[in-house]
Amino acid sequence: MDGALAEYLSGSALELGAARDAPGDGHWRYGVDEDGIGWLVLDRTDASANTISDAVLRELDAHLERIGAELPEALVIRSAKPGGFAMGADIDALAGMDAEAAESLLTEAHGVLDRLEGLSCPTIAVVHGPALGAGFELALACDYRIAIDAASFGLPEVRLGLHPGLGGTVRLPQLIEPTAAMQMMLTGSSAHTKKAHDLGIADLVVKERHLRAALGAIRKGEVEKRSRGLMARAFALASARSLAATRMRREAEKAAPKVHYPAPYALIDIWEKHGNDGQAMQKAEIASFARLLQSDTSRNLIRAFFLRRTLKNAARDSDDIARVHVVGAGIMGAEIAAWIALQGKRVTVSDLDEDALGAMIRRAGDICKDAHKDALETRDALDRLMPDPAGYGVASADLVIEAGPEKPELKAEIFADLAKRMKPGAILATNTSSLLLSDFVDHAPAKTRFAGLHFFNPVSKVPLVEVVTHDKTSAETRNRLVSFCTAIDRLPVAVADRPGFLVNRALMPYLLEALLLIDEGVPKERIDTAALKFGMPMGPVTLADQVGLDICLDVAESLTKSLDTPIAEIPALLREKVEAGHMGRKSGRGFYDWSDGTPRPEPSAKIGDDLTDRLILPLLNACATCLREGTVGSADEADAAMIFATGFAPFRGGPMNYARARGHDAIHARLEELAKTHGARFKPDAFWRDAKGK
Ligand code: NAD
Repeated sequence: MDGALAEYLSGSALELGAARDAPGDGHWRYGVDEDGIGWLVLDRTDASANTISDAVLRELDAHLERIGAELPEALVIRSAKPGGFAMGADIDALAGMDAEAAESLLTEAHGVLDRLEGLSCPTIAVVHGPALGAGFELALACDYRIAIDAASFGLPEVRLGLHPGLGGTVRLPQLIEPTAAMQMMLTGSSAHTKKAHDLGIADLVVKERHLRAALGAIRKGEVEKRSRGLMARAFALASARSLAATRMRREAEKAAPKVHYPAPYALIDIWEKHGNDGQAMQKAEIASFARLLQSDTSRNLIRAFFLRRTLKNAARDSDDIARVHVVGAGIMGAEIAAWIALQGKRVTVSDLDEDALGAMIRRAGDICKDAHKDALETRDALDRLMPDPAGYGVASADLVIEAGPEKPELKAEIFADLAKRMKPGAILATNTSSLLLSDFVDHAPAKTRFAGLHFFNPVSKVPLVEVVTHDKTSAETRNRLVSFCTAIDRLPVAVADRPGFLVNRALMPYLLEALLLIDEGVPKERIDTAALKFGMPMGPVTLADQVGLDICLDVAESLTKSLDTPIAEIPALLREKVEAGHMGRKSGRGFYDWSDGTPRPEPSAKIGDDLTDRLILPLLNACATCLREGTVGSADEADAAMIFATGFAPFRGGPMNYARARGHDAIHARLEELAKTHGARFKPDAFWRDAKGK
């Protein structure tokens, strides 16, 4: 980084601002450099990342008043946080706010950004890392945006059941092609440097060291604003917007039905109505945002956001795992090892099959590509990932993750071999999904440092990891594993060593019920549609095919053997499919035909409550059992685990939140009814009647 810029960012060159009694709490620093450029640097004093709070905006307003009077040659707005520009609005302040308070807060906030937009000197946002939500809206109020190191721009409010509320709905469609702007807001997707430039969001993409030259070019008027083309002008016509809005609603309905996700439709409505009148759009945006904030959907999605944050911050100590060895480079081992290397740790991987190690390197390349890593970052990640057929890395690893086949005798052999070679103090964690840790304790190198790290497939897409402890695992080991998970950007939930742990224990009754329904003659498309309508990301039959029917059968058999109460009979059809070699997606055929990609079940029109309850209530009942038995510590953790491992309808806030909304007594009564009609597997867990659970 340019030395002078570094000084501005660190604050040493901005003593001027401080000496002149900078307003507010000091979230912003301001100074004017030798070229007469004003530098307004956001560096929240109370957080490691910038978010746009009420205090940040008030302080900005005070600075802008002064800047407006002094008028520098140009004003640069940037962040001093290494992690990025700004992550969005301060959700804590918004959550639980009533509509009236939200409207008045937003109206005031709009006034601040309008003041920024109205400054008569050129204003330039210099963005590194993410500029999201209100952070992006702040950058949008500037005349120019320069993207540097790994900049990305996005308005992800739909993920919280909202749409942009700080002028994004007005300014983004005015800046770029309106349909591209709507697409970004409706999907919540981000545009990285090059795409941001192509779309017209970023005027320039430069390296930090060329920033001064870029600023000079803007001041000399050498950076032309791109015109948005004919299409943009056409959308000034109400009839053109109406046509596009109809198409957008149709698309939105496919991805997120209005009954569950009202925000995209509210956004389309206000754009259709006011898309050619900035002021009316601004008013409508504020009112609509305040209204959406009161919806159950938004409340529950904000709840899911907080749950994620709690898991992210679950680490008590700093992570002390530097070197990792993974045993087995199959489906899971390869994913786990590649992900860990991508997150900056050195990983050695052993496998008896050298081809598996080769495939792992290819997979790691794909994961880097999906994560938008550039050539240098990809090379570094691959350098950290070392195929190690003889397992030399075991001796220096702080953590060994076992991802060998799900065969007890093989795992016992692997553990006994590791016990001879692991260094003192190192942890051994198995990725088993269906075996009990307690059965292997005697083979493990050290009982207190033996645990489970249950990753889900694919590791790069499913953020949850179950940190499994048995009776002898020490609290220190559990804490070290929790810290490790957060350090590799995964979300840890601590669970006890019981059959299926939490996630598979809860998911299996749901999957098996779906297959029993097929046995009864209910079309698989109808079953999948019922789950999709409830809000699951995919139907249970499709999910079973995705997971692999052989794996489903293994987990189901192992659960049936080890649980006192039956989860469900194992449907004959499942065995028949596996015996015939129809394992699901991986073999090209399972319940669906996967030979030409992903089957999308034809939506089925009629879905009765009975069908939905038959699928969902067994999942809820299993969560209740896990809570009562202490497999998971709290209803919040159960909700988080099911949302972040299985995608359980996030707008319902998780299974236990859904049960609370429906009422525990109602759930109990409904399960009793189902048990009478369909059998003992629906018997309500004692949890529903237990006052503690309410
Ligand atoms: P897999 O069969 O794809 O991979 C196992 C790998 O281990 C193979 O490459 C095999 O060659 C290798 N191997 C066998 N013996 C070995 C030894 N002695 N030393 C080193 N390598 C050896 O299996 P998988 O699906 O990756 O599952 C691995 C583990 O992860 C299992 O315990 C499974 O229960 C668990 N798991 C699987 C999934 C899933 O969806 N596949 C999800 C979560 C957890």
